[in-house]
Amino acid sequence: MTDIIQLLPDHVANQIAAGEVVQRPASVVKELLENAIDANASEITLVIKDAGKTLIQVTDNGIGMSTTDARLSFERHATSKIKAAEDLFNLNTKGFRGEALASIAAIAHVDLKTKREQDEIGTKIEIEGSTVVSQEATVVPTGTTIAVKNLFYNIPARRNFLKSNPVETRHIIDEFHRVALAHPSVAFKMLHNGDAVFTLPSQNYRQRIVGIFGNKANEKLVPVEEFTEIVKVSGFVLKPEFARKSRGEQFFFVNNRFIKSGYLNHAVSAAFEGLIKEGLHPGYFLYLEVNPQSIDINIHPTKTEIKFDDEHAIYAMLRATIKHSLGQFSIAPVLDFNK
Ligand code: ADP
Ligand code: MG
Repeated sequence: MTDIIQLLPDHVANQIAAGEVVQRPASVVKELLENAIDANASEITLVIKDAGKTLIQVTDNGIGMSTTDARLSFERHATSKIKAAEDLFNLNTKGFRGEALASIAAIAHVDLKTKREQDEIGTKIEIEGSTVVSQEATVVPTGTTIAVKNLFYNIPARRNFLKSNPVETRHIIDEFHRVALAHPSVAFKMLHNGDAVFTLPSQNYRQRIVGIFGNKANEKLVPVEEFTEIVKVSGFVLKPEFARKSRGEQFFFVNNRFIKSGYLNHAVSAAFEGLIKEGLHPGYFLYLEVNPQSIDINIHPTKTEIKFDDEHAIYAMLRATIKHSLGQFSIAPVLDFNK
């Protein structure tokens, strides 16, 4: 009898991993923007063409990479962000799996240009379907530019499955919002087919919300702030009269990472009880800061769901704080829903 098990070649393993990490152009945008943040960039530019289907390019002025690191960054499980398993429970970076670039390079044409401050000459690498096509020295400013072209070029089924340009663009803008709102001090630009979509200078939290959602947002915001031993909460809720049928403007950030939490969303809704009609959803931009050791981020491939040690305490605190803030702004007369 012959044995039948074999190890998959790297490019096949990468393509399988890519299926989890990269669902659509917006997933690439998220990974590239987060890498730029992790590289301590203060300016980040996102350029897309055809809703990201032909080009997604992110340029940052962060720490850049050495020539060796530039090449290694495309290997699976290659990361500068963690070294040991215990680091998983004390994360201060957006990334840690070392999978994004390997996955993206397995299913697209990728050009990387990068240079560190201390290097005179940078590195340019072209990679297609996990294969390095060229690598050369190049003159570039400090920082990194990664261009991802022809996403899913080698997976026609995935490519055909992409939605219309407006829908894919919407997803990209959602990811852009999440990262830009989490990091208001970082300047961002976004261009689509050559047109500026966003130009955001370094701002504070309120300015960033207004920069994204327009001047009208300013008068809708009710500040929320409360610090306890287990969690610091800051940010804003929208006044009850701006509650909407859709859940568009609902943002939780934990340690500057956008997350989804049905449980914490319920805490906010509970604080609005009696102030908004049933079926409408309150808007909020809430920033939670907790000890990184008290959360587990490694429960979901896109890291948008996390586990808190002190979930119940955070729920209670959030609800009480928001109630208090709404009351303080005395914009919370009990509505007569029969009128
Ligand atoms: P992760 O972010 O989980 O470490 P990635 O595949 O996204 O994995 O990136 C691999 C590595 O490449 C990172 O750990 C980092 O060292 C490097 N890297 C990626 N993008 C950048 C960037 N924009 N600037 C500097 N280094 C980067
Ligand atoms: Mg990453």
